[in-house]
Amino acid sequence: MRCEQCSKFVGLETQDPEESDSRVEYSGGSFQVAVDFRSVRNCAECSSEMKDFEGSAEGEFPLEDLDGWTDLSEEQRKELTKALEDGSIEPSLEVECGSTDESGGSRYRKNILTTTFPITISVEYGHPSPKTLTISGDVQAEAAASEYNELM
Ligand SMILES: [Zn+2]
Repeated sequence: MRCEQCSKFVGLETQDPEESDSRVEYSGGSFQVAVDFRSVRNCAECSSEMKDFEGSAEGEFPLEDLDGWTDLSEEQRKELTKALEDGSIEPSLEVECGSTDESGGSRYRKNILTTTFPITISVEYGHPSPKTLTISGDVQAEAAASEYNELM
């Protein structure tokens, strides 16, 4: 791609994605996670922003995957499920720094950029002393290189 600053054709460098928003919701037996982000590809020589893409990395995580779920009694599982459904217990979400991998998928799917954010979902449950039950995993978004907007 041609860089106006450098006045020549240059390679692109993909930057780490910038998280703009994130959310977790519980419904129908699983947690739905979404992390909104912006991914930028710079000129490899002068670091001017050449292309960008705004997307949302998403993932679904079953309630049963909570670390500690198997230690709960049948009754506790029912109680926790109900509390999540009626909103009296709300899951919280932690998002770590993401990365964008431009190595692509299979040979038939070239020029795919995959953005990944490691996440942890936490739920406080139990009485008299609440415990933190967690699920750790990744949320991902794929974009073709051609879906990136040209900024120059
Ligand atoms: Zn340049």
